[in-house]
Amino acid sequence: MLRNKLYYAIKPVLPVPMRRGVRRWFAVRQRRKVGAIWPIFPGSETPPPGWPGWPEGKKFAFVLTHDVEGRGGLEKCRRLMELEMKWGFRSSFNFIPEGDYKVSKELRDHLVSSGFEVGVHDLYHDGKLYKSRAAFAASAAGINRYLRQWDAVGFRSAFMHHNLPWLHDLNISYDASTFDTDPFEPQPDSVRTIFPFWVPAPNQRGYVELPYTLPQDSTLFLILGETDGDIWRKKLDWIAEHGGMALIDSHPDYMDFSGGKSPLQEYPVSLYDEFLQYVGAKYKGLFWHVTPRDVAAWVRTHTPAAPLAHPPASAPLVVKGSGKKIWIDLDNTPHVPLFAPVVHELSRRGYEVVLTARDAFQVCELAAKKNLHCLKIGRHHGKNKFLKVAGLFYRAAQLAPVALREKPVIGLSHGSRSQIILCNLLGIPTILMADYEFAKYPPLMRPTWEMAPEVIPDAALSCPSDRIKKYPGIKEDIYVPDFRCDPNLPGELGLDPASIVAVVRPPATEAHYHNPEAEKLFARFMDRACSTEGVRVVLLPRNKKQGDAIRSSSPQWFAGQRTIIPKGAVDGLNLIWHSDLVVSGGGTMNREAAALRVPVYSVFRGKIGAVDLQLQQEGRLILVQTLEDVDRIALTRRARSSPDGLSSPPTLARVVDHIIDVVENCAAVS
Ligand SMILES: [Zn+2]
Repeated sequence: MLRNKLYYAIKPVLPVPMRRGVRRWFAVRQRRKVGAIWPIFPGSETPPPGWPGWPEGKKFAFVLTHDVEGRGGLEKCRRLMELEMKWGFRSSFNFIPEGDYKVSKELRDHLVSSGFEVGVHDLYHDGKLYKSRAAFAASAAGINRYLRQWDAVGFRSAFMHHNLPWLHDLNISYDASTFDTDPFEPQPDSVRTIFPFWVPAPNQRGYVELPYTLPQDSTLFLILGETDGDIWRKKLDWIAEHGGMALIDSHPDYMDFSGGKSPLQEYPVSLYDEFLQYVGAKYKGLFWHVTPRDVAAWVRTHTPAAPLAHPPASAPLVVKGSGKKIWIDLDNTPHVPLFAPVVHELSRRGYEVVLTARDAFQVCELAAKKNLHCLKIGRHHGKNKFLKVAGLFYRAAQLAPVALREKPVIGLSHGSRSQIILCNLLGIPTILMADYEFAKYPPLMRPTWEMAPEVIPDAALSCPSDRIKKYPGIKEDIYVPDFRCDPNLPGELGLDPASIVAVVRPPATEAHYHNPEAEKLFARFMDRACSTEGVRVVLLPRNKKQGDAIRSSSPQWFAGQRTIIPKGAVDGLNLIWHSDLVVSGGGTMNREAAALRVPVYSVFRGKIGAVDLQLQQEGRLILVQTLEDVDRIALTRRARSSPDGLSSPPTLARVVDHIIDVVENCAAVS
């Protein structure tokens, strides 16, 4: 919010084109980063539970709204009305009650008598509406007065600022200050649904929230510099396909009706005109077109027993204020599959989850594949010890705005030191999931709570016993039972079904626990596998740099395609399943293979943790310690039985129970 505060403090002294220039500068840079969540937010197309479909069996809803920002916009209202009526459309015009213009009763009456709607847009439109709870309550009285005078039932804040719980102060039947996804707005948290939803109040009154789901005209044409309506059309097609609500917010102020003077401040109205024509022609008879007040009335009356309250069950991230918020930081690749079912289960039980991800290894790519929506923050800082430690603190600082804005009640990770550092500084309790007791957590990086497999003794963990939670099995049992075999994978990787496939993960040369002996074991195995007839190696380097280094130091392993490095992120469990053996220098892949009952050899040469010792005792993991051990690894094909027989231990349920227990009962302990 600091950037916002600064912006609104200096905004009055900036001329309009310069203001827009500043926003444009940010937006163009931001656009490169937001491709995964804008203009479409994956998952936002899932209807809320009990969604009844649109009236009259229509496929989707099409709703037009306008905010009138200044005198220039006010003067263009009638022309805009005419343009819309030409195609048979009606819209709602939101006016600022106490801005730099006064909307006449005559214009309001003209709108309403022509089938349009009038709504209230903020009060002063100065960006300060939500400055404090008390200030909002005072403004609410003023807004309610205008709602009454204008006979309006709808509201939208200036700058799409929003705080849904406070809006219960207003006598509205709907609010339209949110959006399904719009990372370009000053308060970019989105509601991630293309459906209207009910915002319940303790006193049963409540209101309907109507997020806009098509990008604003100003964003597209003035800030991003788009020159056609392609994004509108594509998004509309997608909303229509999923039966959602296409709601647009456009501004007469920025529409040029008279032929181009100032491309920084106006765009040709033909862009809007053509879009209306497109919708009318392509979807004739298929959409429900009314003004927002009718949508709100319909949502309210058609869901009397079970209002369509947020959150939709499937959306992993939900609107503020609906429950306690849990922040999960994904800082390495294995955390993605591990936390995906945890996030899902927490959402199902009504908790909000905020996800951040470090831009390292393939974390973000894998998260997108799992439909996890995370904020990408920080990167990997390589091998240099000083840089690594500095990097932890630097990333902690980068995470600070998210923590301050989202105000989670707890931070959860599988070893994100940056998250723990920041939470410790901000007084937010943390839960660290640990499955290797020799990882080091110096004082500032110590978690409040620790969660670990039962096999690790309390004494080996860094928290006192009363802050330790234990779960049965190993952490891989949380997600491996959900494994679904993908029979196409070997073909996609170009693997011959007759060959013996060894999946190999080199030792983590950049990790704090690295031991150079592991590299010798790894090299010995590679030499052996690549000179044995019929063996193919699928090599999974930790990152591109490691892959390049191996390729250039040992080109012989890659001769004749004996070793391949898959392009892009591969589903690790499927790769393991389709292999005959796994040789790995690191923890997670070993245990995934063990959980899938695939022969697995560990060349890890650091201190062996309790989990691996247990797996070794059970005969599910073989610890390779000498070069002779490497030569004893059996290079043979294994029988691939069905993965369905894998048992499904109660690990996930227990882990989520523990998280909720800490959140509800113990989070205040510090
Ligand atoms: Zn406005």
